Amino acid sequence: MSNSYKIAVLPGDGIGPEVCAEAVRVLQTISELFKHDFQFHHALCGGAAYTEHKNHLPQSTIDLVKQCDAVLFGSVGGPTDAQEDPKWKDAEKNCILGLRKNFNLAVNIRPAKIYSMLPDLSPLKPTIVQAGVDMVIVRELISGIYFGEHSTKDGVARDVMIYSEEEIRVPVKFAFETARNRSKRLTVVDKANVLDCSRLWRKVTKEVAASYPDVAFDFMYIDNAVMQLIKNPSQFDVIVTGNMFGDILSDAASVLPGSLGLMPSASLGEKIHLFEPIGGSAPDIAGKGIANPIAQILSGALLLRYSFKMEKEAALIEKAVNAVLESGLRTGDLTRDRSNVVGSKAMGDAIVHQIQTLY
Ligand code: ATP
Ligand code: MG
Repeated sequence: MSNSYKIAVLPGDGIGPEVCAEAVRVLQTISELFKHDFQFHHALCGGAAYTEHKNHLPQSTIDLVKQCDAVLFGSVGGPTDAQEDPKWKDAEKNCILGLRKNFNLAVNIRPAKIYSMLPDLSPLKPTIVQAGVDMVIVRELISGIYFGEHSTKDGVARDVMIYSEEEIRVPVKFAFETARNRSKRLTVVDKANVLDCSRLWRKVTKEVAASYPDVAFDFMYIDNAVMQLIKNPSQFDVIVTGNMFGDILSDAASVLPGSLGLMPSASLGEKIHLFEPIGGSAPDIAGKGIANPIAQILSGALLLRYSFKMEKEAALIEKAVNAVLESGLRTGDLTRDRSNVVGSKAMGDAIVHQIQTLY
């Protein structure tokens, strides 16, 4: 395999361009140190694309992505009070759903972790934080009740949940693979006491599990899982679940670390995967150079791990982020101490420097 890799960079709107610039710098540093040839191809999406093309996801952007090996995505959308402006109306939906559909992004991966050097940031009790929280939620993304038939007739509404064995097998396999590379524990979250779909998830899970004898797995109902996530999150390593339960669970998990600015995600397709922070375009702080670039930088680490199988390189980025946080450097979302805050660029600089030091 050649060591040349094409990365599509779609910075989007709001803080997207500011934080993407830092993530690209980090990836460039990795490219130089490890002698990979990463090539970055920028394209417009969201409101930024609408201004030029009257389209939130122009064909030229789709075509560019098709020629690349992975996508680094920033964020899309405008201020809440400007949603009637066609530039912003449905920008997020048109762009994200369009990308999911075009590239069959069937599996969403969200790590949720509490950093031990940021214990006060989490809304959880110190005793719970001390037990350690470091999990990955794997969510099925393009099937289930969100994509079944919807109708309302004569005062009766219907939403249909459909899962085929194949639609279940894809995320479940990813989850077992992920668990194998971590603490080898997998929790399948469902509602098998009520839903046939959940019973099918259990059947498929048991079949897939046969190929992963080294991974321990169990089943948990969604209602209990949400409760356990708050009461005793250290019990979880990898969680896998369907579209709707994953939506609920991953949003609940997103508040555990205490800042959206720390949290990356991956959306995995057949041919290409997309990596983005879980937060939005943060219009309230956009253009000020103060957004935390860590979520975007860690999305770059996931890109190396999942798209290019560069585990060493991904782990180096994560280690550098840890070291920089350990050193006490803070963007505004990570501390209340206003006298000791740095901007996006200084945080990016520190992480680049740390990568060079640790290499
Ligand atoms: P959207 O509709 O695009 O999701 P939003 O108004 O919900 O927009 P988010 O982007 O989801 O905003 O962010 C929610 C809050 O978290 C905002 O106050 C935002 O400033 C903050 N936030 C999100 N990402 C970051 C970041 N990288 N650094 C600092 N603060 C952030
Ligand atoms: Mg939001």
